[in-house]
Amino acid sequence: MPLSSVNPANGSVLHVFETWDRPRIDKALSQAARIVPEWREIPLDQRAGLVRQAAHVLRHRRDHFAVMMTQEMGKLVTESRAEVDRCALVCDYYADHAAEFLADEPMAAGELDARVVFQPLGTILGVMPWNFPFWQVFRFAAPALMAGNTVLLKHASNVPRCALAIEEVFRDAGFPAGAFQTLMITSDEVGRVIEDRRVHGVTLTGSEAAGRAVAAVAGGVLKPCVLELGGSDPFVVLEDADLDRAVEQAVVSRYRNAGQSCIAAKRFILVPQVVDGFLSRLKDAVAAIRPGDPMKEDSGIAPMARTDLRDELHQQVRDSIAEGAIPVMGCEPLPGKGAWYAPSILDRVVPGTRAYDEEIFGPVACILRAEDEDDALRLANDTRFGLGGSVWTRDVARGEAFARGLACGSAFVNAMVKSDPRLPFGGIKDSGFGRELARPGIRTFMNAKTLVIR
Ligand code: NAP
Repeated sequence: MPLSSVNPANGSVLHVFETWDRPRIDKALSQAARIVPEWREIPLDQRAGLVRQAAHVLRHRRDHFAVMMTQEMGKLVTESRAEVDRCALVCDYYADHAAEFLADEPMAAGELDARVVFQPLGTILGVMPWNFPFWQVFRFAAPALMAGNTVLLKHASNVPRCALAIEEVFRDAGFPAGAFQTLMITSDEVGRVIEDRRVHGVTLTGSEAAGRAVAAVAGGVLKPCVLELGGSDPFVVLEDADLDRAVEQAVVSRYRNAGQSCIAAKRFILVPQVVDGFLSRLKDAVAAIRPGDPMKEDSGIAPMARTDLRDELHQQVRDSIAEGAIPVMGCEPLPGKGAWYAPSILDRVVPGTRAYDEEIFGPVACILRAEDEDDALRLANDTRFGLGGSVWTRDVARGEAFARGLACGSAFVNAMVKSDPRLPFGGIKDSGFGRELARPGIRTFMNAKTLVIR
């Protein structure tokens, strides 16, 4: 099956790529294996220089990569530029901190001279999604390469141009051939690549279904695996919240990237005292979001990434309405070619509706009404997912206590959940396992070897 690049703003086909046959895949695996011993022996400061150079290439060609991203998966060009910047930032971050993160750790063991030393595992496969087509890759690849691993990328089938552009970034930065390779394959070939003895670990960012499939194969061959999966993050507003600020951030969190972010606030949980004030502000703010050509600077929201994803979202919304949820705004596709969906609000979302039980991966804010603070926490945790969550209150101690009670990987008080190179990122429950970014992110695919000398 070919890999097609289609502009979701208007449905035009940009490019169709043939997928690789087995001999071509084998050639890439051999090339990765050949470079492993050389790459891991390159001194850390030289690898850091190359990673910094990748940041330079990104910044230098920022507009070119941003336009490519926007054309291929639809996000606003302003969002695409910010994404390229963030990729450069994560490269710089690991170039600056790798020596500290990977330094030997002395262990207190009495008469023994003991320490932990960190050594790369070899070649790591990244299976990546389309929603942040550059960021998701750099978030994993920058630390993996910095640590001395080599990287294979299997990107989502709808972003092949981005996949090849990322390979170009590393090539043009001066990385040796084979250190980073894009595999032009569909998901059918992923299992075989994981099983190959030249691959030593796998990380997947994507849906639960893909996560289960990849983890099952990795488990079968006993290879380490990181899963960054979906989320249904709660955004809890308590009665003493600053409602203007909460709504401003709610809108950014829910509608950015046309709602297609794993850590978007998806369930807005309101205590009775704030329902009217929050909802009236939210309606005004959502009414002001203007869908428009993602290439234009002043467009307020972009199309979704594919029409099938848009149609799937709409089916979830329709089913939820049939199950009793109330459409307040939007809740309809927008007319015209392309994957457009109106910025939407769905109220009175209760257990048993699809919008309550499933991840809503598009521009639809779901409103859940809590009886009080305890009920708000119960609702926040009443989900299979556990990626992020936020709580809004002027009482910081109360906010911290609430945030500690959230069953998720990242809990924020009076701020929307964001990923940041300096902070560990990952989920629990059906949102996956393992951590990316910060110190844990670079140690993920390392052998933490105990070394004892007498
Ligand atoms: P997806 O359909 O699961 O695809 C993600 C990647 O997995 C793609 O490269 C896809 O390849 C591949 N894949 C799909 N099924 C597979 C299988 N059975 N075996 C091996 N590989 C397989 O997810 P998506 O629609 O691109 O992304 C949206 C999902 O990702 C949402 O649930 C979102 O919340 C989640 N996400 C999570 C994070 C996080 O950090 N936790 C970040 C971003 C997104 P093909 O494209 O070729 O099918």
